[in-house]
Amino acid sequence: MNSELFVYNTLTQKKEKFQALNAPFVGMYVCGPTVYGEAHLGHARPAISFDLIFRYLQHLNYKVRYVRNITDVGHLENDADEGEDKIAKKAKLENLEPMEIAQHYTDSYHHNMDALNIKRPSIEPRASGHIIEQIIMIEKILQNGFAYESNGSVYFDIEKYRKTENYGKLSGRILDDLQTNTRDLDGQGEKRKPFDFALWKKASPEHIMKWPSPWSVGFPGWHLECSAMGNKYLGEVFDIHGGGMDLLFPHHECEIAQSKAANGIDAVRYWLHNNMITINGQKMGKSLGNFITLNEIFSGHHKLLEQAFSPMTIRFFILQSHYRSTLDFSNDALKAAEKGLKRLLDTYEKINRIKPQNTSTTNVNILKDKCYGAMNDDFNSPIVIANLFEAAKIINQCIDNKEALSHEDIETIKDIFDIFMFQILGLLPDNQNHNQNSADEFIQIILELRKEAKLRKDFETSDKIRERLAAAKIGIKDTKEGTEWEFIN
Ligand code: ZN
Repeated sequence: MNSELFVYNTLTQKKEKFQALNAPFVGMYVCGPTVYGEAHLGHARPAISFDLIFRYLQHLNYKVRYVRNITDVGHLENDADEGEDKIAKKAKLENLEPMEIAQHYTDSYHHNMDALNIKRPSIEPRASGHIIEQIIMIEKILQNGFAYESNGSVYFDIEKYRKTENYGKLSGRILDDLQTNTRDLDGQGEKRKPFDFALWKKASPEHIMKWPSPWSVGFPGWHLECSAMGNKYLGEVFDIHGGGMDLLFPHHECEIAQSKAANGIDAVRYWLHNNMITINGQKMGKSLGNFITLNEIFSGHHKLLEQAFSPMTIRFFILQSHYRSTLDFSNDALKAAEKGLKRLLDTYEKINRIKPQNTSTTNVNILKDKCYGAMNDDFNSPIVIANLFEAAKIINQCIDNKEALSHEDIETIKDIFDIFMFQILGLLPDNQNHNQNSADEFIQIILELRKEAKLRKDFETSDKIRERLAAAKIGIKDTKEGTEWEFIN
């Protein structure tokens, strides 16, 4: 193990020396996706950030139990206590079972995450599979007097909790602030205070996803699943809890309150949060027309995209910023990332061309130390990447006979790439850029042949091309601007 690891704890707003509760074991919980739509750019950043952290902890020989949940019930619209369940709403629209929607988008999420070379978590529990655990947790919170039943629903009693605890300590929100910002919504009459949040909601008759409980046939509140599943798989206290900064409030603030109210102890030792992605300087949102799914990025089919970008380009682009920094997404920034990654991968291929010399003219061990130093300083991937570029420069200078390396130092520089570029940053050595670009090129050639066939009124050939492409899971659509294509499921 190389020196000490420091992590930035959102709760204390300080970098703290990481000390695992039961070393070498580390428990890490990260909030996963609500599976009611295609994974988009916003999903890529937390997944890649915590994959980096997972990989580095493993590299340091920690035995990490990484739990990332799948939210398939209880996440209501606008993250509020009222409104329709996001998954049930989509299911109704598409005339499917809610679990079909959840399964479909879970599979699609996995497919995208695999493409980004994100390691699967150790456990990926579903909220709908842990209703009993959630009911038991509500019972504990009720017994401890921090919740109340109202008309078949159960709400967390913030005012009671505040008497002994600091609600808002993670997000920095204060209650007066909350009170004025909480809109008067339907069903609020059940709550004693507008800022109380639901632990259990009684289901209306038309609600599809519901379970029996001591209070009503209903469903758990969105925040509860993470507390209950974290508790079940990692224990009452565990090391790391992560997620996007957008989850600080109310989600993580409520998680802290629930665990403390149920078990009388703070569940999480280090809270880690990744910053958000903006697109051309704007927040991403469906209404803004800048909502880009990962499939659209990989295929280049979105009006904001000038070309397709491979999963490895996206991964590299995201790791070029520190996980707590803001990150703006633009065609130019992505093209620069694509070029930078290609330069590193091409240079790595050339290491074997360096002729070993008796003595080195430069110290490559310093680079390795700097990479460890950067990772130990709250997982600073951009500094690691800067040092990889430094290593690439040395490789090129050696090939041009401007610098010299001993056999041993050539091995060290190879090591720097193997450990940091491939193992820890998780970038793949086989350049998927080529695959993606060549797939795009092949399909363009085929579409041109089809266009020529149509022009000479050979519809038999043009239809055959469409059918064969469809059989190969490539859908095409003729538009005024030309023919578009996409991979279909
Ligand atoms: Zn969560």
